[in-house]
Amino acid sequence: MSHDNCLFCKIATKVIPATFLLEDEHACAFRDLNPMAPTHVLVIPKKHHVNIDDAADDALAVSCVMRMARDVARAEGLKDSGYRLVMNSGSDAGQSVFHWHVHVLGGRQLGWPPG
Ligand code: 5GP
Ligand code: ZN
Repeated sequence: MSHDNCLFCKIATKVIPATFLLEDEHACAFRDLNPMAPTHVLVIPKKHHVNIDDAADDALAVSCVMRMARDVARAEGLKDSGYRLVMNSGSDAGQSVFHWHVHVLGGRQLGWPPG
């Protein structure tokens, strides 16, 4: 289930350290190393999926990750002010880590459209 050369599999299994906020049987949430907003948290499934194109068939992983993204936003106090969930898929979107993750961004006014 864990892929040897995958950075986020290594974070999920605590081989590489990260600042964790939440964790359950199927997902975990940790702070992005290079935050783009006051809150910038990554939520990942523990099971390796490359991106949403791959993960979308795994209803359990998708529901656990999305619920945890909501719970991170609540825990960071963003429910009322608002926040953005981002998932980059493939090269045109700039995906750089090929283990599906949802970015939870908030704590400042976010621009639209994205770059
Ligand atoms: P992507 O570009 O694939 O959508 O997002 C990958 C994210 O992973 C980037 O925002 C990047 O800052 C973050 N990242 C890359 N390496 C690490 C790491 O070792 N630890 C943590 N916490 N975040 C990382
Ligand atoms: Zn992985």
